[in-house]
Amino acid sequence: MRKYFSSGSGPDNSRRRFFKNLSTGLGAAALATAAFPFLSATTQNAAQDKNKKLGVALVGLGSLSKNQIAPALLKTKNCYLAGIVTGTPAKAEEWSKKYNIPKKNIYNYQNFDTIAKNKDIDLVYIVLPNSMHHEFTIRAAKAGKHVLCEKPMANTVKECEEMIAACKKAGKQLAIGYRLHFEPHNLEMKRLGQEKVFGQVKLVEAADGFRIGDPNQWRLKKDLAGGGALMDVGIYALQGCRYVIGEEPLTVTAQEFKTDPVKFKEVDETIFWQMKFPGGATASCTTSYAASTERLFASAEKGWMELRPAYGYGGIKGRTSKGEMNFPQIDHFEAQMDDFANCIQTNKPTSVPGEEGLRDLKVIEAIYKSIREGGKEVKIA
Ligand code: NAD
Repeated sequence: MRKYFSSGSGPDNSRRRFFKNLSTGLGAAALATAAFPFLSATTQNAAQDKNKKLGVALVGLGSLSKNQIAPALLKTKNCYLAGIVTGTPAKAEEWSKKYNIPKKNIYNYQNFDTIAKNKDIDLVYIVLPNSMHHEFTIRAAKAGKHVLCEKPMANTVKECEEMIAACKKAGKQLAIGYRLHFEPHNLEMKRLGQEKVFGQVKLVEAADGFRIGDPNQWRLKKDLAGGGALMDVGIYALQGCRYVIGEEPLTVTAQEFKTDPVKFKEVDETIFWQMKFPGGATASCTTSYAASTERLFASAEKGWMELRPAYGYGGIKGRTSKGEMNFPQIDHFEAQMDDFANCIQTNKPTSVPGEEGLRDLKVIEAIYKSIREGGKEVKIA
């Protein structure tokens, strides 16, 4: 397959220059800056010293915080790891040493609200099980902090609305951890679809699934996770459809399949769902905790584009009917956090606000409703 855009027949001139420059050896950061405005904000602030960086408090020191977010916070230009909130004293000790976090910036879930008095903390990043996002977002807003909340935003539409209202009342920004809105390949899919580079998108096929392990984890408990594969990773396929088509779905039909009713007693294992969009596009989506799948494909009137794999932390690969994409791999969490910190610093609204998380929960609730009603077509509120 020939390289994407290398023939000079690519979708737009600035992108062509981007790839040409890559091959002539210019720095990736400078190039990425030219192509992706959110990275430009990051670079502009690169000269800031640590005292001007925003202080982040991480709430929940599980796998994502430990392996992705904390390492990314060592690279961010606009924010740094200033505090932690944990229910495990041993983790407090370990993190305090590893990241040089002063005792006064360490909280537990009970005394978290006293963070209101802590000037070192500007924003709180909530990385807890899904059912706890609602409570901790509201408590953080009441403490006068900006909030970055992991996906899915919450377990219900009502909770999302309450979180948005709390942040609005506090005059603080709320962003959802949709890291792929800062990832070059996904941004390109969005641009190709929304700018109709290959004409109107007619069909999207999106899938995200993996084989889940430990049967005792919170992801398999309804009260903590809100749902199964759909809430956890199906949300990426849903997001992909929404940003490639650039519209909100009107209706949904859905079917659930369960091959292990013991392991998946409380939550969904595999769901297929279909969506109709106002501009005439349709989408067919898959999510699963039983099988690995990861793809975002869009067919338009005059061509197609695809990411496979599409949503992981790295190794995303893309191609179109014109050839292969050639974008840099970046740290999604670094880009996401630097962008949010920059939005706060410059008083600019985030591109991934609570409203974006709310829209997904509206579709997710409609998907579950369709399943309960035997696959009936359900209008999205
Ligand atoms: P995890 O299980 O590894 O960590 C969860 C943390 O919450 C742990 O530190 C645990 O001690 C704490 N916790 C507090 N109360 C708990 C309770 N009652 N039950 C279980 N744990 C409790 O989970 P994770 O993979 O870090 O996921 C955390 C959040 O991040 C979830 O909302 C998940 O959807 C999201 N996530 C997002 C991405 C992404 O790519 N953006 C990736 C993974 C996870």
